Amino acid sequence: MDNIAKTLAPKFNVTRGKVRVTFQALRKQVFFFLVLGLFGCFSTPVEFDGNQAFRFLEEQCAFGPRNPGSEGYLRCRDYLTATLKQWADTVFYQPFQYTELKTGQTYELTNIIARFRPEAPRQIMFGAHWDTRPWADQDPDPEQRDKPILGANDGASGVAVLLELARLMHRKAPPVGVTIVLFDGEDLGVSGQPDSYARGALYFAQNLPVPKPEYAIVLDMVGDAELRIPIERYSYRQNPELVKTLWKQARELKLPAFRNRLAYRIFDDHVPLWKAAQIPAVDIIDFEYPNRYTNYWHTQQDIPENCSAASLKQVGTLVANHLYVSEK
Ligand SMILES: [Zn+2]
Repeated sequence: MDNIAKTLAPKFNVTRGKVRVTFQALRKQVFFFLVLGLFGCFSTPVEFDGNQAFRFLEEQCAFGPRNPGSEGYLRCRDYLTATLKQWADTVFYQPFQYTELKTGQTYELTNIIARFRPEAPRQIMFGAHWDTRPWADQDPDPEQRDKPILGANDGASGVAVLLELARLMHRKAPPVGVTIVLFDGEDLGVSGQPDSYARGALYFAQNLPVPKPEYAIVLDMVGDAELRIPIERYSYRQNPELVKTLWKQARELKLPAFRNRLAYRIFDDHVPLWKAAQIPAVDIIDFEYPNRYTNYWHTQQDIPENCSAASLKQVGTLVANHLYVSEK
């Protein structure tokens, strides 16, 4: 853009103190404003690098399972912190404790928070959970059910998109202030007790460490190679306007994964954000992994091979365009 503006700047002939614009320069000027007008009508979509996001997914999985207390968990926390520190204005921890119901063990947990343009008058938020489930309790093989999952999709995928968004925000400052929260303790829950899940989001909402954002967009299970993202029901209840804006934008951007229908209700990090802090939060989630007949959710099949860069690219393209185009 800079280069075009320079070459199209009119040439001036200065005669006796007056400025005379040559015919050639005038023609170029008209062309310049015509181009400007066209760009105004059809703003170019923001490019999001799905391959880079996929590398962030693989890097997290290379640490092994990231369930609280494990070696992979500690190493991944350092990796996420160091990665975000390269790009964010500020990165800090929000520590908390949780006594998990299945074994009665108490864990020291950490939400990782990165802020961009913290001084901006308008503030929004993106979230994803970075911890992975300690038990593959949905695995068809009973032998596997007490072992931790790798969490390529359930954990790493949402974080991967947000890391690439952070890299993008470092190169091009966002039009509003953005807080990225990587929640801990999302997946320590026991079935039938929703309050035992999403503990990091609950702690964040009950102890807001940043000015309350206008809304939040949460990403979870967005890496499925067969990506289909319907509208999750709590999201529609909590923030119908944002849901409509996002899914309309997905249609305009021709992102086929986004399906214009209401589907399941998922208790995820977006629910405590609304319940405890009235942050109207939306969850972008594909719970049918890979499809309605089979589900790798909370099994040993939640691995990078069942995820794809193309899927991360669709979700990243939507959030990046929402941020840079809708919020401009
Ligand atoms: Zn999970």
